[in-house]
Amino acid sequence: MATEAELKAAGDKYVPKDYDPALYKLRHSLAHVLAQAVVEKFPQAKPTIGPPIEFGFYYDFDLDVNPTEGDLEWISNRMRQIIKGKHPFKVREISADEGRVLFKDNPYKLDLIDGLTKGQDEYGNASTDAPTLTVYQQDTFTDLCRGPHVGTTGDLDPKGFKIQQVTGSYWRGKSDNKMLKRFHATAWASGEDLKAHLARLEEAERRDHRKLGRELDLFANEAVFGSGFPMLLPKGATIRRILETFITEYERRAGYQHVFTPDIAKKELYKISGHWDHYKDSMFPPMDMGEGGSDDEELCLRPMCCPHHIQVYKSKARSYRDLPIRIAELGNMYRFERSGVVGGLSRVRCMTLNDAHLFVRPDQVKDEIAGVIRLMKRAYADLGITEYRFRLSKHDPLNPDPKKRDKYVDNPAMWESSIQMLRDVLTESGVPFFEADGEAAFYGPKIDVQVKDVMGREETLSTIQADQHLPSQFALEYKDSDDTPKRPVMIHRGVISTMERMMSYLIELYAGAFPVWLAPVQVAIVPIGDRHFEFAQKLADALLDKDFRVDADLSAKRMNAKIRDAQLQKIPYILVIGDKEMEANAVAVRLRTGEDLGAKPVPEFVALLEQANRSRTLK
Ligand code: ATP
Ligand code: ZN
Ligand code: ZN
Repeated sequence: MATEAELKAAGDKYVPKDYDPALYKLRHSLAHVLAQAVVEKFPQAKPTIGPPIEFGFYYDFDLDVNPTEGDLEWISNRMRQIIKGKHPFKVREISADEGRVLFKDNPYKLDLIDGLTKGQDEYGNASTDAPTLTVYQQDTFTDLCRGPHVGTTGDLDPKGFKIQQVTGSYWRGKSDNKMLKRFHATAWASGEDLKAHLARLEEAERRDHRKLGRELDLFANEAVFGSGFPMLLPKGATIRRILETFITEYERRAGYQHVFTPDIAKKELYKISGHWDHYKDSMFPPMDMGEGGSDDEELCLRPMCCPHHIQVYKSKARSYRDLPIRIAELGNMYRFERSGVVGGLSRVRCMTLNDAHLFVRPDQVKDEIAGVIRLMKRAYADLGITEYRFRLSKHDPLNPDPKKRDKYVDNPAMWESSIQMLRDVLTESGVPFFEADGEAAFYGPKIDVQVKDVMGREETLSTIQADQHLPSQFALEYKDSDDTPKRPVMIHRGVISTMERMMSYLIELYAGAFPVWLAPVQVAIVPIGDRHFEFAQKLADALLDKDFRVDADLSAKRMNAKIRDAQLQKIPYILVIGDKEMEANAVAVRLRTGEDLGAKPVPEFVALLEQANRSRTLK
């Protein structure tokens, strides 16, 4: 039998890799404190499981009443009392039989005990852990639990948590099981930390691209299209066009050649590329074109453009002098993302990637990757993205879970040399980076560029991959200076990500108030009365003619209402036109922030607009 100290130490191994252990313990401990309070309030409630999650924890109960606001307040107050009681968390080992007696009135815990004795974790997944059963007790409450916990409830801050809501959830997540009540709480080491979190949450809601997408008429999700298939409305489409022109121009100047390749190809193509073996789970099922004739085949929606750009490379014989060859496309791709993770524009099922594949000689790999990093840095600077970090994303050969370990191509020498190559480039480029297992592409390691949202959640915008696998699958060659055939290395790269993800990121970065060069409408013209409409319309036409994006508000609304509308639409410049302005061929310029720049002659305003647009100033 293990001692209490040994049992407690053993619990530490359950803290997930990326989780702060102190936060994990305090959240897990608060979950027990909450469970005690809930059971005191509702003695019929049966606790099930209550794990720490990203910003707090939840706890699921079998409970047939809907707790009121008053109940939740009672529970919170009771939790504070329990915390102040400084009750130690005591652990002891029990046998399965003891457990079955202890929890005889709770079928969920009995189910858990059965699972544990069969080597399953609390979610019913196979676990490699030896089935040692432990219970933790604080004050009057005992729970089946593997830990870890804080020493006593006195280590928790009575002001550091907040019960947020109660929702429904199913036991084991299966909808044929009974509906449970899930208590959600956010929990932190101190009252100040909690306050800071709630402020971030509020800011994130203000910037939420789904909310702003509706308010600013940028995009919409139609149930009839299905989840993960948003449509861009005219204003969103305008932003996308600007981004596309912006990046293709940069690429053209950096020596890329743009192509169009089909979104659909025979399954055979993905068998050769290895997508069928390694990436099938993320692909839509193939379309069976029926028996017989020339249609006797299966077609796939492409999940990546790599095999297509390979065909471009193969379309003619290549010599060492032709390389590097940089093939780019705003490529449409289709990925069967799980419905639980798709949302808004940041993770969709049909997307357009700023994709390119560079076919290079081995001696060119480093320079070409460094070139991509330079391109990326310039694009980010123009877009106003200043906070990002580089991640060297590797495969996961030591993962005990075969599903996670074996999804990569099996070629240890290739992995080792490719990883080392990327590590060298990063080091030589002088950019700080960190390494992560299990984030590689199936065919090779990547350099990913990670950005954070308001809540501190990271996502990938840019990615660069050095690949020796696909060139060999497709037997790519070039003729070297000594006339012998050689194999090129393929660099996959996306600089500004998918149009969808980049838009979601920019909407949140700017809270919808885009810099002038990205704003779907740059200028709102507000004539004060009917007699100013003609002048307003002419001015709008003149600005349109210079390729500016203009909206003249010729509605019957009052001036102040028109100005307010333009401000709510976050239009950078609002031009008010009355008698004085008309006479002087001038405009009264206001910014969306409310700032008044006063009257300016039309040519002067045009010069100002031109300057803001061209220099991509970030206001
Ligand atoms: P993730 O890990 O985000 O699923 P990935 O590693 O599968 O992405 P790549 O195949 O490298 O991604 O795709 C290139 C880029 O496309 C990603 O870095 C990301 O910015 C973007 N992207 C990937 N999947 C989606 C998606 N479902 N919706 C929108 N953008 C996406
Ligand atoms: Zn616990
Ligand atoms: Zn690729």
